Amino acid sequence: MTNAWETIIGLEIHAQLSTESKIFCGCSTRFGDEPNSNTCPVCLGLPGALPVLNRRAVELGARAALSLGLHINEQSIFSRKNYFYPDLPKGYQISQFDKPFSANGELEIMTAERDEAGHPIEWVPKTIAITRLHLEEDAGKNVHEGLPDIDRYSYIDLNRAGTPLAEIVTEPDFRTAWEAYDYVNHVRRALQWVGASDADMEKGNLRCEANVSVRKIGEELGTKVELKNLNSVRFMHRAIEFEVRRQIGVLESGGRLQQETRLWDERAGETRVMRSKEEAHDYRYFPEPDLPPLIVSAEFVQGVRSDMPELPEARRRRFMEQYQLSFSDASQLTSERSLADYYEKAVETSGNPRTAANWIRSELLRELESAGLSASLSPVSAADLGAFIKLIDEGKISGKQGKDVLVEMFRTGKNAAAIIEEQGMAQLSDATEIESLIDQVLAANPQQLESYRAGKESLFGFFVGQVMKASQGKANPKVVNERLKTKLQAL
Ligand SMILES: [Zn+2]
Repeated sequence: MTNAWETIIGLEIHAQLSTESKIFCGCSTRFGDEPNSNTCPVCLGLPGALPVLNRRAVELGARAALSLGLHINEQSIFSRKNYFYPDLPKGYQISQFDKPFSANGELEIMTAERDEAGHPIEWVPKTIAITRLHLEEDAGKNVHEGLPDIDRYSYIDLNRAGTPLAEIVTEPDFRTAWEAYDYVNHVRRALQWVGASDADMEKGNLRCEANVSVRKIGEELGTKVELKNLNSVRFMHRAIEFEVRRQIGVLESGGRLQQETRLWDERAGETRVMRSKEEAHDYRYFPEPDLPPLIVSAEFVQGVRSDMPELPEARRRRFMEQYQLSFSDASQLTSERSLADYYEKAVETSGNPRTAANWIRSELLRELESAGLSASLSPVSAADLGAFIKLIDEGKISGKQGKDVLVEMFRTGKNAAAIIEEQGMAQLSDATEIESLIDQVLAANPQQLESYRAGKESLFGFFVGQVMKASQGKANPKVVNERLKTKLQAL
């Protein structure tokens, strides 16, 4: 029997740090401004202009590193990475090379095998070795218009040139596309959580590249292919799966793989060659003479750390212990910081962690999702949701009515009490009133009562139904059941 194929994946993430100004000059990093309006001699690469490091970029870089549990080097060095490309006005990028901001870290993520439909089967921890996290500047953007070879114009917009980036590189530790998927989601959430980056892949402020190769288990590493243009985690997952199948196909049919960079084409559902190894860059790194070594003191790191919120993994564990939530409930409720805050506020108001988790996970998230909103923008405030849950717990409305009330709260922004009042939905829980309805029902159905007393106990449900009907659906079913039982036994 021949050995099975094994997939080897390493990932590089570029995350734009959420500073207001660029990393080496005071130009704005605002997205979507008039092309080339946020530029100056430094980020245009004009002769004689000197870079000055933005302190905020270092703070956010430190937040990024700490959110991933990485150590920050006391001294790191900026280096010039030389290559020629139209969107790089200096002819080099200021990056970090042999002495990066952070190196040799380890990150534990939770990952799951998935079924055919992509649903997690079981979550298990996995440790990923982080080779490095370094700081660097982003390049500008080339914008192409018109049809290729006919009427093609290329423009250069340097607004993005000099935006601070954290580049996070892993060892080739991933064995499946799902592990890579779970890792990128982990990093994305961590960076957003601590405010280091907006980390929105669709907007390009978090970009991801995957190095993919295959080998027979136990054999040497195969030829690796770099995948680019992965504009969402879902695309990345599809691209890796495609690439693994392609590589195995080539090798099994006796072919050889080229070391190359390939782009994911989402519409075609395949990767295609962007450039081969012959065109690979030789960057000739050397230390940046215009910037002193970056010294990050222990006090500085401590200051950044003390400003950071409780991290997502710690919060998930706390939710499981403090509120007795399952792993999957706690994971979903800590998938975003605003959602975790929302949940805790709703627990505070309702005093019921279990029910709050259920309503948020089922009804509220569905409404938010279909409206394309995050929890922080929910038309139903956390306090209103908490008060709503309290009304159900007190039996003012039934859980079934609650679903309609919540939809109405979401639609109108009104609180539950107001909607219940307006629509006359208040549940009837008063025992005396319910007993009088029961008496009416029993009096109106003498034949059924006779059969019931003769032993036809299945008629109990019939009486409950009749009482509910008489109350126009407002009677509290629990009270109806209790009182009816007592009444029938007394007869
Ligand atoms: Zn500038």
